[in-house]
Amino acid sequence: MKNYPVFDGHNDTLLKLMRLGASSIEQFLHGNLDAHIDRVRAKSTGYRGAFFAVFTPSKKSISQSGSRTMLPAQHALKPDMSPIPRSHAVNFTNDTINLLHRIIGLSKGTIALINKAEDLKTFTQVPGLSIILHLEGAEAIDARFNNLQRYYKKGLRSLGLVWSRRNIFGSGVSLDFPGSPDVGPGLSEYGIELVKRCNQLGIILDLAHLNEKGFWDVARLSVKPLVVSHAGIHRLCPSPRNLSDRQLEAIANSNGITGITFANGLIRADGRIDLSATLNDIIDHIDYIRKHFGIDYVGFGSDFDGARIAEQLGDVTGILKLIEKLEERGFTEHELRKICYANWLRVIKETLASHRC
Ligand SMILES: [Zn+2]
Repeated sequence: MKNYPVFDGHNDTLLKLMRLGASSIEQFLHGNLDAHIDRVRAKSTGYRGAFFAVFTPSKKSISQSGSRTMLPAQHALKPDMSPIPRSHAVNFTNDTINLLHRIIGLSKGTIALINKAEDLKTFTQVPGLSIILHLEGAEAIDARFNNLQRYYKKGLRSLGLVWSRRNIFGSGVSLDFPGSPDVGPGLSEYGIELVKRCNQLGIILDLAHLNEKGFWDVARLSVKPLVVSHAGIHRLCPSPRNLSDRQLEAIANSNGITGITFANGLIRADGRIDLSATLNDIIDHIDYIRKHFGIDYVGFGSDFDGARIAEQLGDVTGILKLIEKLEERGFTEHELRKICYANWLRVIKETLASHRC
């Protein structure tokens, strides 16, 4: 089996680190972290780049779990979907971004943020971990966009308008099964303005968790490739979190990408979170895009540390097993390079390139 560098569209490892507390930073850097990802296992797998999400759990879910160090997993069986106040989102977001900057500072140059397209020039040659700072749900952004530029300066380069809950910008889909993504209204006027501002700054707009009307609003307004960082195929698993053929076609037509998730509930045909999907189930979703829309529009979007992951895959090192299985299923080296990193790199470069800072 060949070695491929891997770029992942989504993980929630920062939330995991927030749950575990400050001492987890050393474990993340030196291995043995009780999580799907740490630097040591990432390095051994060729996991060299990823969108690291900043996600704010609701106050209720924090208080129910007793303390911040016991924060619930984002995709718990019954997560709290109620809207969250902005002040809470700002505090939690700032704390998480500070934690990430502490990790980068302690990493002796082996972990870096991707700020501009040129930062990816050496991606395939230089080992290390390149991070896109991603905000999963825009609750921390104020309605006048005063702090968007501030977060941009702190490294924000990707933003999901919503998580699966409503906010002032738009509406998310539920995590019920089965269901359609076509629920709720499209973007608000604030949401429309946020799309324009992200285009101008060179911030990737992530449409994972967004409802279908919101998706079509972004497809109409955005001048950048459409990105869904972690989802599956609705035809194969009818979760409202998964994408219809029309949506997949629009993503391909925009030269965009879907990161196929490894989360049981979005991969298994019966949507069961508590039973494990197989490597072949994951590959069915990847292959669906290859067959019907083209190999250029699919990548990985693991959801490590944010979801119950297929047991055959396990943790970040399981990506090697997935690649081996993809080879067995007839994917060529050329196709594997595109899935493992080249498609993500293309979309990131195309979106970040326009910024003038
Ligand atoms: Zn998510």
